[in-house]
Amino acid sequence: MTDIGQILISKTETITNTWINNIREDIEIESAKGLAYQSVRDHIPEVIEHLGVMLSNFSQDKKQELEIEGLKHGIVRAKQGYDVTEIIQEYSLLREIILDSLAEDLKSESKEKILETVKLINSVIDKVISLSLESFLQARIKELEKVRSQLVLTNQELTRLVADQKENLSYLAHELKTPLNSIIGFSNILLQQHKNVTKGQNTSLNLELTEKVINNSKHLLRLINDSLEIARCQAGKMELNLVPTNVKAIIGTAIESLEPFARQKDLDIIFNDDNIPKEVITDPLRLRQIVTNLISNAIRYTDSGNVSITCQTENNQQWLIIIADTGIGISSQNQKEVFKPYYRVSSKNYQSYDSTGLGLTIVSELVKLLQGEIHLVSELNKGSTFTLTFPLVIISN
Ligand code: ADP
Repeated sequence: MTDIGQILISKTETITNTWINNIREDIEIESAKGLAYQSVRDHIPEVIEHLGVMLSNFSQDKKQELEIEGLKHGIVRAKQGYDVTEIIQEYSLLREIILDSLAEDLKSESKEKILETVKLINSVIDKVISLSLESFLQARIKELEKVRSQLVLTNQELTRLVADQKENLSYLAHELKTPLNSIIGFSNILLQQHKNVTKGQNTSLNLELTEKVINNSKHLLRLINDSLEIARCQAGKMELNLVPTNVKAIIGTAIESLEPFARQKDLDIIFNDDNIPKEVITDPLRLRQIVTNLISNAIRYTDSGNVSITCQTENNQQWLIIIADTGIGISSQNQKEVFKPYYRVSSKNYQSYDSTGLGLTIVSELVKLLQGEIHLVSELNKGSTFTLTFPLVIISN
């Protein structure tokens, strides 16, 4: 008798590759577009192999291992920004491809055997879908809770600004408070609803709403916080904490925090620190903010190649940080504009909830504050290089 399970296992690689290609072409799975091969692949080969073992010889252990893969997959997809319909769609594709790839082998089997095989495949995939969605929901709810508490803090800051009518920003703050309050209220209801949901109930509507609230809240939060930061810089209200600073450690920490994003896109991060100054007098927090912002842009706007960070002493008064990428580049026409508030080069592939067009404005304000200069050289489709020059010792005013 043919061992369908073993046949399925032997086809794991082919099925996985066909599945990844189908996913990349599927317009309903938008979130997979920017992901590297390994990130889309995730735990799917393990799911197929466990399913194969179950088809060969049903065992409770394998069922549990499969369920764990389902749970892990949901968490990964939550981190990658998938939504519910995309998860369901990717599993539907998997089901189709598995059944297609076994069709020829099943032809010679009895009707009962075919029915039993299809039933088992369907029930396993359904179970994995429901577990993936369950862990996905947990991850999103956790995130919603985090965003909600950040929003509450931002709301308090806006309330203070509104109270101070002398601030120009108070008008903007007032405008922003209404949607902010409704988001906070809305997310409260969702969290409450989630707590009341009994197991087994359909939660997909909740999930979609949760997604919308999270994404819009994050964007609004970033807009408000970034606008406040620029306003503080421009009003000369930013206090610097000038101390002897280990630049290598600051840049190292910034790189470490962004490495997972580079890995997701298969990008190398190269750190050249051969001639790095041992210590400079600067504000470490602000310096880290500048470097993090530029490296994160370099990763975001690069699809292949690398991001390199060079830090070196220039002469006995100055030091440099050079952040270069091999990404999409910025046309000469746009190079001056990108430092202006809210300016984003329009590109469908790179618009996201993360983007506010305020990052480079903040960077250039902070560089000014640290008595430095920023210089951009870029060529479309070749990459961009941001060079920062700072004095080794900042003289406080
Ligand atoms: P955003 O939040 O949109 O990234 P920024 O102020 O950081 O805002 O950047 C403004 C615009 O400059 C971006 O929308 C992008 O078009 C462009 N940009 C910034 N950094 C890079 C880079 N390293 N490579 C290509 N384009 C970039």
